[in-house]
Amino acid sequence: MKSAPRADVLVIGSELTRGAQVDLNGPSLRYLAESAGYTVVRLAYLADDVGEIARAVASSLDADVPLLLLSGGLGPTTDDVTRQGLAEALGVSVEVRQEELDRLARRARDRGGEVDDGSRRQALFPEGSEVLPNAAGSAAGIYAEVGSSMIFALPGVPRELEAMISREVRPRLLRRCPQAIQRGVLLRTAGIGEAELARRLDGLLAGEDVEVGYLAAPGEVEVSLLERLDDENAPSRAEALLEKIEEAIGSHLYQVVRTRGQADAGVEVLRLPKAAALPQVVGAALEQRDWRLATAESCTGGLLARRITDLPGSSAFYVGGVVAYANTLKSAQLGVSAAVLASSGAVSASCAAAMARGAHERLGAEVAVSTTGIAGPAGGSADKPVGLVYIAVVSPEARRVCRHLFSGDRWIIREKAVVAALDEVRRLLAGLPASGSVDEGDGAAR
Ligand code: ATP
Ligand code: MG
Repeated sequence: MKSAPRADVLVIGSELTRGAQVDLNGPSLRYLAESAGYTVVRLAYLADDVGEIARAVASSLDADVPLLLLSGGLGPTTDDVTRQGLAEALGVSVEVRQEELDRLARRARDRGGEVDDGSRRQALFPEGSEVLPNAAGSAAGIYAEVGSSMIFALPGVPRELEAMISREVRPRLLRRCPQAIQRGVLLRTAGIGEAELARRLDGLLAGEDVEVGYLAAPGEVEVSLLERLDDENAPSRAEALLEKIEEAIGSHLYQVVRTRGQADAGVEVLRLPKAAALPQVVGAALEQRDWRLATAESCTGGLLARRITDLPGSSAFYVGGVVAYANTLKSAQLGVSAAVLASSGAVSASCAAAMARGAHERLGAEVAVSTTGIAGPAGGSADKPVGLVYIAVVSPEARRVCRHLFSGDRWIIREKAVVAALDEVRRLLAGLPASGSVDEGDGAAR
């Protein structure tokens, strides 16, 4: 396989190196590079320090990296020094760009102020570089070319960075079009571990000119198959193998995304956060039948509702839910009987079934799903260990209570329960077998 051109990503900001701010830009920049056919070789965090920035940029340029992406440190305050670091690495000075200064002055006047020293600093650009307009904020980006290297320095505010990526950076990368055509297939799975997936797929993919990657999140694994072809019409091995691959993964496979070239529908799907994929698939299945979903959550404490409503447009299929953490609320809000709670306890198949039934009857949705379990670290026992989660699903056509035993800490168990709940809904709607073991007890029968 042709090797992909290299990209380096430098995420700049002392708040990031100190750990005071979670990095939101690194993933966006990595995705930008990968989706344009580059392979990210280095992703580094740098403090707001001229020398550090200059050294990091120089080291990438020494390696002739074709694409270098920087974020942060373009702001008006004295601790924002990316422009100086970049200039130092390029061996040039910074100069005032009058048109930028004028724009910043207009911007300041519109806000009832005057151009100040901060704004003046934001009008400084390394000699020979280009201004990347910022439609969403004050800090313009910087574009520079050195030999065959393209360098983009983008603002740190994530919303501004995203806007600049789509308006300024992506179009330039597409014009530059990396040498080889990259095609990918993403296989999204739930309820199967990466080791087991690899066991099923390795034999099929051995010796094929396809790069395989596994990316695991709690309860889910994404398998990516990547090929680099010489031209658009070259036959795809991944495509040829797809049927066998799908068969090997079986009902755990919930979505297949194809990315062809750089700017197609597959890439659009990938712009949605990964966590939205399963809700999206479940939502599509519900909408197809004009059904709606309600949730009744205990151990997931609203995380399931959150995961669903993170998906833009989820109101089309999701009515909402009840977080019934205490038994009193399970009874009052969902009609779980005192007898069920007394005889089987809150973490039981019959309680899960009663919760789903209650949500189904009381919340005005055709489909309901419930979660009840022991997320730990305390509260486990020999017959009800930490990680035990019951999930019940009710639809107009079928109902099912599934028993899952998840490993991990509290956070991971709850995330896995959310994924499993969505997956059990998907499975019931599609007439597929449950992922957990089906509990045939009293709860399931009714
Ligand atoms: P601006 O002029 O709009 O401030 P900037 O390039 O100067 O842009 P910074 O000053 O470095 O950006 O950061 C602005 C804001 O964006 C800060 O609140 C910072 O914490 C946040 N930010 C910067 N980098 C990141 C990042 N990688 N992930 C998330 N937030 C970030
Ligand atoms: Mg900063």
